[in-house]
Amino acid sequence: MNRKVLISGASVAGPALAYWLGRHGFKPTVVELAPALREGGQAVDFRGETHLTVLERMGLLPELHRIQTGGSPMHFVDEGGRTLLHLPAEFAGGGLEVLRGDLARVLYEHSLPYAEYVFGDSITHLAETSSGVRVDFRSGASDEFDLVIGADGLHSNVRRLAFGPEKDYVKHLGYYAATWRLPNYLGLVKGSVCHNAPGRLASVGADHRDAARAGAFFVFAAPELPYDRHNPEQAKRLIVDAFSGLGWEVPRLLDSLHPASDLYFDSISRADVDAWSTGRVCLVGDAACGATIGGMGTGTAMVAAYVLASELARDPGAPRTAFIRYESRLRDYAKSCQAGGDRTGRFLAPKTAMGARLRNTLLSRPSLLNWMLKQGEKITSAIDLPDHPVPRPHP
Ligand SMILES: Cc1cc2nc3c(=O)[nH]c(=O)nc-3n(C[C@H](O)[C@H](O)[C@H](O)COP(=O)(O)OP(=O)(O)OC[C@H]3O[C@@H](n4cnc5c(N)ncnc54)[C@H](O)[C@@H]3O)c2cc1C
Repeated sequence: MNRKVLISGASVAGPALAYWLGRHGFKPTVVELAPALREGGQAVDFRGETHLTVLERMGLLPELHRIQTGGSPMHFVDEGGRTLLHLPAEFAGGGLEVLRGDLARVLYEHSLPYAEYVFGDSITHLAETSSGVRVDFRSGASDEFDLVIGADGLHSNVRRLAFGPEKDYVKHLGYYAATWRLPNYLGLVKGSVCHNAPGRLASVGADHRDAARAGAFFVFAAPELPYDRHNPEQAKRLIVDAFSGLGWEVPRLLDSLHPASDLYFDSISRADVDAWSTGRVCLVGDAACGATIGGMGTGTAMVAAYVLASELARDPGAPRTAFIRYESRLRDYAKSCQAGGDRTGRFLAPKTAMGARLRNTLLSRPSLLNWMLKQGEKITSAIDLPDHPVPRPHP
């Protein structure tokens, strides 16, 4: 009953859901637009008991501990390199921090015994029938599935096809973020150095595994910009325009952007969808409730995948009920995690020099830092996880 499930998106939510559905006896197929598993992105973090419980139930903790970054302290410096603010490793890194690309690979490998993957393809049409959902693909293939899940991120294709245009669901929060890798020409050993100009953050951090490499992380304030999200050259021009004329290490970092082949560039936005499912189609992860950065989207995606699979397994004959139970368990939790992302742009790249000074003064106080860390853990743990038995053993 309703065992044949199509999942769109193979990053975090998609493979995590494929794993759990497979363990519950479903037959998931994951379709990913990119020709191979996507690398890139900075570190993503897990914080609080619930995130760690889900990772533990998946059997992932030993592997993730092995590849964790150990957290990334942030040093904010002025143009001459003098430290203005030091944020400890756990501030950005939470309880367990891994590179996004590493996490996606571990989840993919973990789900492989249970799922079929199709890379380089995308859904072009969804039509609900009396028994399932008829799906057409860009490759020309066509098939019927019992259920379709959109795990295809903030700019979800499934959401667009089944719920409506992106502008109805995604709100731009006034900032853009970019990451890319470059040679470690500063000889950084751990953490990152960050430099602010009004409305801009330029930073570069050590690569915890490869001493010869480093990662750039830039954030800038801008209204919604017209550009083709699938054209990295356009994104590079926007970044260069936003940062040209700045001092510190910015000119050298911009030089390293030109040859970069792993650029991640996106608006800092949030997705708000009134109802996460319609008929036999449901959303999970950033597609349902994403926040580009700072909204704990990775941890929420892992929790959401676990809950959705549990609810479907509880009653595979009634997917509508399962979708509604999934959403009612998760919605408030996801919203309060997501809310942190609303402030991320302003926090990383305050729009005025005074705003940056205020941030630096406030966050130099250990008591405030500790309070913020505790709040983060409280928010990410404020959910009761379902305990539906998992029939298939982990291979
Ligand atoms: C390359 C990349 C780099 C990232 N870097 C960071 C970072 O540095 N810091 C951070 O906090 N978060 C980053 N994120 C976002 C982070 O992964 C998510 O916020 C979070 O983990 C939730 O994951 P998700 O699986 O819901 O969505 P996402 O991680 O956004 O994954 C969505 C997946 O769907 C795929 N997809 C998109 N359109 C289609 C389509 N039409 N058909 C099939 N598949 C499609 C995408 O290629 C992607 O693999 C990054 C995401 C990506 C894809």
